[in-house]
Amino acid sequence: MDNGPPPLADVLVVGAGMAGAAAARLAADAGLRVLALDKGRGPGGRLSTRRVEAGGFDHGAASLQAQGEDFRGWLAAQLAAGHAARWGENWVGVPGMNALLTGLLEGIEVRWSSTVAALDRVSGHWRALDAQGQPLAGAERLVLAVPAPQAHSLLTATAASAEWGAAGSVLLAALQAVRYAPCWAGLAVVEHVEGRAAPTCPDAAALAAAGLAAMIREGSKPGRNAAGHWVVHADADWSTRYLELSAEEAAHRLRSAFVALTGIDDGAIRSFGAHRWRYARPIHGLDPALAGAIEGLALAGDAVGWCAEAGTPPAEQAWRSGREAALRLLAARGCLS
Ligand SMILES: Cc1cc2nc3c(=O)[nH]c(=O)nc-3n(C[C@H](O)[C@H](O)[C@H](O)COP(=O)(O)OP(=O)(O)OC[C@H]3O[C@@H](n4cnc5c(N)ncnc54)[C@H](O)[C@@H]3O)c2cc1C
Repeated sequence: MDNGPPPLADVLVVGAGMAGAAAARLAADAGLRVLALDKGRGPGGRLSTRRVEAGGFDHGAASLQAQGEDFRGWLAAQLAAGHAARWGENWVGVPGMNALLTGLLEGIEVRWSSTVAALDRVSGHWRALDAQGQPLAGAERLVLAVPAPQAHSLLTATAASAEWGAAGSVLLAALQAVRYAPCWAGLAVVEHVEGRAAPTCPDAAALAAAGLAAMIREGSKPGRNAAGHWVVHADADWSTRYLELSAEEAAHRLRSAFVALTGIDDGAIRSFGAHRWRYARPIHGLDPALAGAIEGLALAGDAVGWCAEAGTPPAEQAWRSGREAALRLLAARGCLS
């Protein structure tokens, strides 16, 4: 395993969701060669947009909130560039949420459908390995921007072989303590039936009574071609209780709730699918001081530095953590004055 190819980049980013993309952008803008690997087929992560025959669904985050001036400013720049739009008080990517990442990753080499199964460090360089132990890429600096349980499993073997000692043990324990709330998302396509009103959103009390957190009419967002598309988010309790259901069974239950709450005829539903997000939003984050505890490695992601009291929206936290990870690596490399 020591005879991998020479490093291909100055910075290797594993995971090109909001956090990894923000890190990649900042490092590339500072003049570094950046290579990102992501197991997905295209940009999104938890800001994914699923394309179906008749338009799309934002089946992860439905919209973004902005708390800090820096994130608000970045979203305003995305709006000016045509990647974002306002949706009430919130922000959405256009034509789908994943457009926010497409904009961030412009000009950056990303290898999609590249699942990293292990990481190792050889002669001061990080390498990402596939399931067969073959090197996918390498670099002196690594931004690891995947959810904490996945970061934990990728780093466990490395920690043992790299003899990180106490710092490695503390980091691994802290990664293991990170917690996320899951979310089952139901995706409905509703046929317009002549003479019948379109379904409308029930109020918050009715949603909560059914175990739902939100019901979103995709066509109400700007720049969408999504007439008849609805996304239903189960709340954290419902999602936790039914976490291990099959997608078919979860879809069946969410469909019943959707029909009962909107009063529509079940026959008007053309399709109804479900997607499970095992790690939708952080509920217990990682101490940001640990994110740079290991030389040449910076951790990023919505859980890094997230704390419930601050109330920072998770996607904003992901964006900021990615930028901070890149800044940390740049500083360590002497790229900052
Ligand atoms: C249903 C739902 C609703 C939400 N609502 C909101 C909201 O209203 N407001 C808000 O702020 N946030 C919301 N969020 C959370 C928000 O989407 C996330 O905080 C944010 O997108 C996280 O970005 P990230 O880069 O940290 O992680 P991710 O988006 O999870 O990115 C991680 C990336 O790593 C890749 N990856 C993982 N493992 C590997 C591997 N082994 N090899 C290669 N690649 C790998 C994945 O494919 C993914 O692209 C919501 C999320 C969900 C699911």
